[in-house]
Amino acid sequence: MIVIGAGPAGLRAAEALVRGGVRPILIDEAEQPGGQIYRQPPRGAARPPEALYGFEAKKAVAVHAILARLGDAVDYRPRTLVWNVSGQRIDTLGPAGHRVLDFERLVIASGAMDRVLPFPGWTLPGVFTLGGAQIALKAQGVSVGRRVAFVGAGPLLPLIAYQYAKAGAEIAAVLDVTPFSAKLKHAPGLLAEAGTFAKGLWYTLRNAAAGLTVHSGVRAIGVEGEGRVHGLWWRDAAGTRHSVACDAVGASFGLRSETQLADLAGCAFMFDAVSRQWVPQRDGTGRSSVPGVYLAGDGAGIGGADVAELQGERAALAVLEDVGKRADAARAIALDRKLARQARFRDALERAYPYPSHLLDDIADDEIICRCEGITAGTLRAAASERDAHEINRLKAFTRIGMGRCQGRVCGHAAAEILARTPGKDIASVGRLRGNPPVKPIPVGGLP
Ligand SMILES: Cc1cc2nc3c(=O)[nH]c(=O)nc-3n(C[C@H](O)[C@H](O)[C@H](O)COP(=O)(O)OP(=O)(O)OC[C@H]3O[C@@H](n4cnc5c(N)ncnc54)[C@H](O)[C@@H]3O)c2cc1C
Repeated sequence: MIVIGAGPAGLRAAEALVRGGVRPILIDEAEQPGGQIYRQPPRGAARPPEALYGFEAKKAVAVHAILARLGDAVDYRPRTLVWNVSGQRIDTLGPAGHRVLDFERLVIASGAMDRVLPFPGWTLPGVFTLGGAQIALKAQGVSVGRRVAFVGAGPLLPLIAYQYAKAGAEIAAVLDVTPFSAKLKHAPGLLAEAGTFAKGLWYTLRNAAAGLTVHSGVRAIGVEGEGRVHGLWWRDAAGTRHSVACDAVGASFGLRSETQLADLAGCAFMFDAVSRQWVPQRDGTGRSSVPGVYLAGDGAGIGGADVAELQGERAALAVLEDVGKRADAARAIALDRKLARQARFRDALERAYPYPSHLLDDIADDEIICRCEGITAGTLRAAASERDAHEINRLKAFTRIGMGRCQGRVCGHAAAEILARTPGKDIASVGRLRGNPPVKPIPVGGLP
């Protein structure tokens, strides 16, 4: 039994498997358990949990304690990348080199990454994703710049602005591309998780008290500078242009599920019209369309850390049921109930912070969309209209979009949106980039 990912979902899955009498292999490419939200600083760089995780300190401590408590009951393999799934096998690269592991049951809890949208100047040194800026602060204790501007859509924006301000960075601007009206409209749905809603409100109020104005409904953005970031401009809802000087920018627009491993495992996908992304199908228990493969956490649809913990445990109970081991049926019912309540909240959250694909409406032909291969918006548009590349994998074949080191994880969404803007197409009809191994760059030497 293999669990991929030692974030909240994977750790809870491993814990529940152990409770059911199984010794799972738990694999993660990170050095320490915790995943994204509960990412730990390097060993020796101790900072108190309250300073690192704020309101989530208790949860972080509890999640970090899982492996220490389970000890040898889990075969934990950190610093190990799973770069392929093929049939009942996975390929890994870790401290001991390349390995091929057979599995009977596989729980994929691969999490998410920032969703990136190109804008003028986005490839300049000094532009980070919001999550990247947060990782620098959380894991390394450094700010990405002295005077930083943040742009985004979603709850991470006020949180990261707050964390940077608290750490002593100068905040040049906080720009929210979400219209205030969208947030207001879905406020009743957000109250399904009143505690989480209150935390979001708290960060917003603290930012305001610290003199940080969040500009909502921003319609266009661009980074200025030569060789590095010197400033940021934006257009407000009325179309008026503004600019600020800064030496770093954190920008991203929600999260995208890391779906490549589920894809390689052969899982069926569905298009989620609200978040405008393709996600692997799973039922309420975490079973995928492929017998023996289970999905938990953000890797199969963004649900947040609390949902990830619940889904991880739930998927493990499904595994135990399927292999005829003792699974706690009452606990499964309780988890299903909690997950149903969270689903209402997540739906409202996705609707309150819609993916701002409109930022791509007027993107210039010479703007780079794929930074691995240097492919511009104009090249994509030309292939779409002149070569009838009506589907994203065909566009890839003509232009090499998604063929570089990121394998489309950074550029794929933007390329699909640009293709969807050619006549007669829409975002669901252009499809999704198919996953290919290796899902992340690996050295060729030592391949089995
Ligand atoms: C950069 C970033 C910052 C975030 N910050 C916050 C925050 O401050 N507050 C908040 O509420 N939410 C935050 N989120 C969202 C939150 O982290 C997630 O909702 C939550 O962590 C989901 O848990 P998970 O277990 O599904 O995935 P994750 O916590 O992402 O864990 C997935 C794990 O899988 C591992 N993994 C993935 N692919 C492979 C592979 N191929 N081989 C081996 N290991 C692999 C990763 O190393 C990771 O440890 C953030 C998300 C991101 C991407």
